[in-house]
Amino acid sequence: RPLIAVVGRPNVGKSTLFNRLVRKRRAITDPTPGVTRDSIEHEWILDPYALTIVDTGGFKVEGDSLDEQVKEKSVSYLKRADLILLLMDVTDVTGEDETFIEYLRPYSDKLLLVVNKVDNRERENGVWNYLSYGLGEPIAISAAHGLGIDLLEEAVLRFLGEAQLLKSREAEAEDSFSLRLALLGKPNTGKSTLANRLIGRDVSIVSDLPGTTRDVVESSFSYRGMNCTILDTAGIRRKKKVGENIEYYSVNRALSAIEEAHVVLLMIDAQEGLSEQDKKITSQIIKRGRSVVMVLNKWDLLQEVPNMIQAISDRVRFLFPVLSFAPLVPISAKTGEGVDKLLSTVYAVRKQMSKRVDTSRFNDKLKEWGEHYQPARGKRGHFKVLYGTQVGVEPVRFLLFVNRKKGFPPGYISYLTNKIRKELGFPSVPVIIDLKERR
Ligand code: GDP
Repeated sequence: RPLIAVVGRPNVGKSTLFNRLVRKRRAITDPTPGVTRDSIEHEWILDPYALTIVDTGGFKVEGDSLDEQVKEKSVSYLKRADLILLLMDVTDVTGEDETFIEYLRPYSDKLLLVVNKVDNRERENGVWNYLSYGLGEPIAISAAHGLGIDLLEEAVLRFLGEAQLLKSREAEAEDSFSLRLALLGKPNTGKSTLANRLIGRDVSIVSDLPGTTRDVVESSFSYRGMNCTILDTAGIRRKKKVGENIEYYSVNRALSAIEEAHVVLLMIDAQEGLSEQDKKITSQIIKRGRSVVMVLNKWDLLQEVPNMIQAISDRVRFLFPVLSFAPLVPISAKTGEGVDKLLSTVYAVRKQMSKRVDTSRFNDKLKEWGEHYQPARGKRGHFKVLYGTQVGVEPVRFLLFVNRKKGFPPGYISYLTNKIRKELGFPSVPVIIDLKERR
C-alpha cells in the first residue's frame, strides 16, 4: 500500500495534522514493531486508497546538519515513501525549515508543500511567499481548525492517481502483456471444444499445471507474442457425468474463475440464445470490473440470414443492457471459423483494460462534455463536476470531484461513462466512476 511520509521541523503542527487525518477516518492506531518511537505508522483510509502514513518525527537539525542518529531511519522513509508531505508554518520560517527544504530537494518530484496554521484571510496572503521555494503550489491548511484538509486530500489523491498510472505503465512494459481467460457458459455450449482448439494452436506451449490447493488446471497458448492462459480447463475439459450440469454453475467455481480472469468469454449456443443464468453470471462479472466477450457458438448450424448478427446483438443489448459494451463474436468452435476474429477482439479488449488517459486530457474532455450537457438541477441547487483523474486500470476506474455527492444524478454518470468509452478509447470494457465531494 502507498506510503505517505509527513516531515517538518518541530512545532509546525505535524501531530495535529496527523491526528486530524487519521482520527477523522477512525483508523486503528497501530505502532509497528521495529520502528523507533519517533516514527509511527498509521493506516489512513482515503477512499479509494488505504494508505500508510508515517510521522517521521525523527528529523532534527543540529547546527546546520541533521542529527545523525535519527537521520538514518527517517531517510529510509523518505526513500521508500510514495509521497512526502513537507509541513511548514505560515507564521514562522526558520533556518531549520530551509535546511529541510534543501535536504528534501532530491525528492521534489514526490513532494507536496503544505503550509499550516493558515487560520484567517490575512495569513492566506502569506502563503504565496512559499512559491519561491520552487516546490510547486503550496497547499494552505489549518490543521487545528480543520481548514483546507479537503484540498490536501484531493492533492494526495491526484498525486497517487498519476503515480499509479506511471507505475502500471512501467509494469506493463516489463511484463509485456499476459491474458487470463475464463470460459463460462451453460453446459454443451462448446467450451471444451473451443478450449481444445485454442490450446491446439500451439501445442508446444501447452502446459497443464495441476493446482496445488485449488482444483484448477490452467492451459496456455500464445497469441501475438502474448502469453494467454485459459483458467480452470480441468473443469471445462473433463468428461461430463450425469447431473454435472448443475455443478458447473457452482457459483464458487465460476466466481473464482472470474476473480482471476482479465476477460471472461461467455459461451452462448447461437441456437438457444442467452439464458437467465448467463445474465446472473454476467452481472457478477461486471460487478468485479472484468470484461466480457460474448461468443455465439455453433454458428455453422444456423442458416445464414442477412443482418442476423445485428439482429441478435440488438436483441441481446435490449434484454441485457448491462452488457451493452460487450463485443459479440459469432464463431464455430468445431470448424474454427471466427476464432481468429475472436482472438483479435479479446486482444483489443485486453489492451483497453490497461489503457491510461492523461489527467490533463481527461479534464479537457470533461470540460468539453460539460459544455454540451450539464447535470440536472437537484432540490438543493446545481450539481457540478469540478475535475477528475483516472485512478486505475484493470479495471478502468476514474475519480470525479463533484460539488455535492449526495443525490448526484445517475443519468449524468451514464452520460460521462458513455463519453469516456467512445471518446477516450474504452468502447468494450467496464468503466467505473467514483465520486468524491469537494466543498
Ligand atoms: P461444453 O459443455 O461447453 O464444454 O461443450 P462441448 O465443447 O463439450 O460441446 C458440446 C457439444 O457441442 C459437443 O458435441 C460439440 O461437438 C458440439 N459443438 C461445440 N462447438 C460446436 C460448433 O461450433 N458447431 C457445432 N455444430 N457443434 C459444436
